[in-house]
Amino acid sequence: MNRITMKDSDTIAAISTPVGEGGIGIVRLSGDTSLKVAERIFTSSKGDSPLDYYTHSIHHGYIKVPGSGEPVDEVLLSVMRAPATYTAEDVVEINCHGGVVPLRRILDLCLSEGARLAEPGEFTKRAYLNGRIDLAQAEAVLDIISSESDAAGKAAVEQLRGGFSRKITEIRSSVIEILSEIELALDFTEEDVLFSSVDKMTRGVEEARKTLIKILETADRGIVLRKGARAVICGRPNVGKSSLMNAFLRHDRVIVTPVAGTTRDVVEESINISGLSVRLSDTAGIVGTSDPIEAEGIRRSKEKLKEADIVMFMVDASRPLSDEDDRIYDIIKDKEVIIVLNKTDLPGEFDVKEVNERFGWHEVIEVSATRGTGLVELEDAAYKTIFKGDVRIPDGPLVTNLRHKKALEKALEIMDKALKVTGSNYSAELLASDLRQVLHHLGQVTGETVEDDILDRIFSRFCIGK
Ligand code: GDP
Repeated sequence: MNRITMKDSDTIAAISTPVGEGGIGIVRLSGDTSLKVAERIFTSSKGDSPLDYYTHSIHHGYIKVPGSGEPVDEVLLSVMRAPATYTAEDVVEINCHGGVVPLRRILDLCLSEGARLAEPGEFTKRAYLNGRIDLAQAEAVLDIISSESDAAGKAAVEQLRGGFSRKITEIRSSVIEILSEIELALDFTEEDVLFSSVDKMTRGVEEARKTLIKILETADRGIVLRKGARAVICGRPNVGKSSLMNAFLRHDRVIVTPVAGTTRDVVEESINISGLSVRLSDTAGIVGTSDPIEAEGIRRSKEKLKEADIVMFMVDASRPLSDEDDRIYDIIKDKEVIIVLNKTDLPGEFDVKEVNERFGWHEVIEVSATRGTGLVELEDAAYKTIFKGDVRIPDGPLVTNLRHKKALEKALEIMDKALKVTGSNYSAELLASDLRQVLHHLGQVTGETVEDDILDRIFSRFCIGK
């Protein structure tokens, strides 16, 4: 299996802290010869050698150029011996002054003394290949680094701790158990042995199926939690879309202007609604124009609209509703729509009832973007719409990743098929082959049966040094 074939014994090195000036910077080494590389370039202030250091110990000294002895930086050297390390290999971390020059020079010395530059995510990949964490946990590392909200970070840490993986492993184990019983039964040719166990096997598959359905139920919410949701504000020119963005962001990234159609590009920002990341796109309007620049804006707006989880359709309460409002509504009506009635601080031309009569039933929130009223209500409505009314974040493991969701759905589909087989004309061979496929798909999540190109795709999203 690829866990074995992909392992390589090079010692790898990389700068593991962000590039730029910082208080400290870390160059990390992992692999069999990490300590040897460290020994070549590190001079301890006590005169001892890294080769003799205990595991998980820290030592003061200087990095010096071997041969000339020229000092490069004053450092703290951490030694962590296999297997209780991030990669499950010997790891050395060189803690130096954070700055491009010392970090680069120390990395170069590691490379000239026998290490090779790590690929993106290679430290975490090794943790996976060496069996310290499974694939879902490795993906959680990436999610922790890139999480944009507390809720996303929390879900990722939970996944790294292994709660989700344990659930999948549990389902896998029960399928393996059933499969081995079938295989055992297949070794006996007597029909009665087979038939007596059919019932038990069916029950086993049904149990596993129920657990799988339960975990899949968390997927929609889990994925939104991790990735955040996309909200688009749209409405005709001058209804106050940019002003609403600004009210949310509380700073002036969008130029608010009383001239129609001046927001030509799609402006994007993230806001945080109760720990959930929501992206706002202020659109250039989505209905016809002859101006080519605006037309490009319209094209992009429509793209954003396609990706949107919810659309905030804004109308101007101080002016009569127009055909243009109708045309915009026509384009968005199949999305999850919240109608935002803006400029309620001005004398109104129509009310909520009229809005509903014209556009059908949607939640209508009254706001004043310039005064900042109604924003909390709008946030609440958005949150409830995104989570389909159920705003609780479920306890326990969540499916937060589309890749996992798809693999689990495949497993479920085949389980359903297998159960149909056990129902009518039962064939042990067929059932066994279905269950093997179920195992394959479950194994894609935790990484027991995953293809190399999928692995490459996952780890290439990491940065170098992670
Ligand atoms: P956009 O074209 O939809 O982005 O609209 P803008 O945000 O640029 O706003 C157009 C004009 O309406 C500006 O002069 C804003 O100050 C004004 N405006 C926006 N929201 C409100 C509001 O809630 N009340 C009032 N009185 N004026 C508003």
